[in-house]
Amino acid sequence: MDNSNIIHIGIDDTDSKYGMCTTNLAYELVQLLKQKVKFIDYPKLIRLNPNIPWKTRGNGSISLKIKATNFDKIRTQIIDLTVNLSDIKRGANPGIVFYYQDLASQKLINFSRSALFKLISRSTVKKFLDSNKLDYFSPGNGQGLIGAISAIGYQFNDHTFELIAYRKKSEIGNTRKINLDSVKSIQHKYKTIFNSYYKNRILITPRGPDPVFYGIRGDDIKSLICASKMIKTDETPKGYMIFKSNQGTSSHLDNLIDVSKLEPYSSGKIVGIVSKLPTVNKGGHVIFSITANYNDVKCITYKPTGITNISMNLIIGDVVRVGGGIRKASKLHDRILNIELIEILKLSKCIKLINPRCQNCNKNMKSNGSNQGFKCVKCKAKCTRKFIHEIPRNIKCGSYIPIPTAHRHLTRPLQRIGMKNQNTSFDRNISWFHIYKHNFSGE
Ligand code: ATP
Repeated sequence: MDNSNIIHIGIDDTDSKYGMCTTNLAYELVQLLKQKVKFIDYPKLIRLNPNIPWKTRGNGSISLKIKATNFDKIRTQIIDLTVNLSDIKRGANPGIVFYYQDLASQKLINFSRSALFKLISRSTVKKFLDSNKLDYFSPGNGQGLIGAISAIGYQFNDHTFELIAYRKKSEIGNTRKINLDSVKSIQHKYKTIFNSYYKNRILITPRGPDPVFYGIRGDDIKSLICASKMIKTDETPKGYMIFKSNQGTSSHLDNLIDVSKLEPYSSGKIVGIVSKLPTVNKGGHVIFSITANYNDVKCITYKPTGITNISMNLIIGDVVRVGGGIRKASKLHDRILNIELIEILKLSKCIKLINPRCQNCNKNMKSNGSNQGFKCVKCKAKCTRKFIHEIPRNIKCGSYIPIPTAHRHLTRPLQRIGMKNQNTSFDRNISWFHIYKHNFSGE
């Protein structure tokens, strides 16, 4: 393929808690550009470090890869639309980056990896843009540029897709009414679809006043499109778009946290040995410590994750790999790892010394006093030492992740454990962008 005139457009931080949505902006941009440029990949929805403190929701950023001649005019249109659809008055700090190469440079790739695992300062991003002579636009303080660069530089090692349907303006703010059984049926029919519901709770709809009607996630685009036709609702969304994403891949945990620093807001994994027994605090959250590379690391499992029963049963000597993010120190705690994943690698033996049992009478022997051995009260048989009794452990080696209602966008769901989606090339004949013209169902 001729690699000239290829442009990546990365965008982030267009929404606020009160409105707008960066993925909806991506949808509107595609609608604007689709007659003017050639798309050469699916739009990307990249979730970055979920532990940074100033994210609005799921720390998502987007990028588009296009081929275009006479880009100057289009560049202005992209900027204008982004500014129009950004909630700048209520705190959004949009950033747009234009990158004029086919493949991201190693520096961009490394920047994106840092944004997935660490906290990046605004001064770092400014220096990065200048030293790499990148073309960018940011009407606010430049915070959104971090996500914009990272969405361009992200390299997939595994990916999923999300079909996001958007609401018409007149519907935004209204309750989303979707039939629960129809949501259950899509996941039963298409095994590659995940996290659509949990028990009787629908998980495909957000709760806020944003333009997203629903998002269906899975590993296969065709199944997502078929599934969207099975969703029963009276509302006709304005359209849908499919994003290629790192959601459901746990890529934010593909990093070893430096236990000697425990940098606040960093994400990744730590391998260690349980060194302090778990305790439960007032809220029902479980706290324990591990030793890793001669450092003590405090860990917390929150009750809503549904895995406190696992951490509660850890004992000293168990070898674990724990994944999550470092919470900064507070009045109550030092820096602590908020757990999103526990992998039990080795269980230590739970041993208790008990009074011996009489071999003749099968009765517990009585102590004769300190260091004086034991005696059977019935037949007077003697024994000098206590018996070693191994108490069966009620947890097993394996991976434990939160229940779906407590998943982050990035959390790898159970059904994707051990799986990698790597070779989906761009198929321009698939309807990855769609506008609903008439009735929603069955169109
Ligand atoms: P939504 O999920 O609705 O799109 P959001 O949670 O992505 O919202 P944003 O409003 O985009 O929230 O805010 C996240 C901000 O954090 C962006 O400005 C982004 O550039 C920035 N950011 C992302 N990753 C990092 C990081 N690792 N360090 C510092 N800033 C980051």
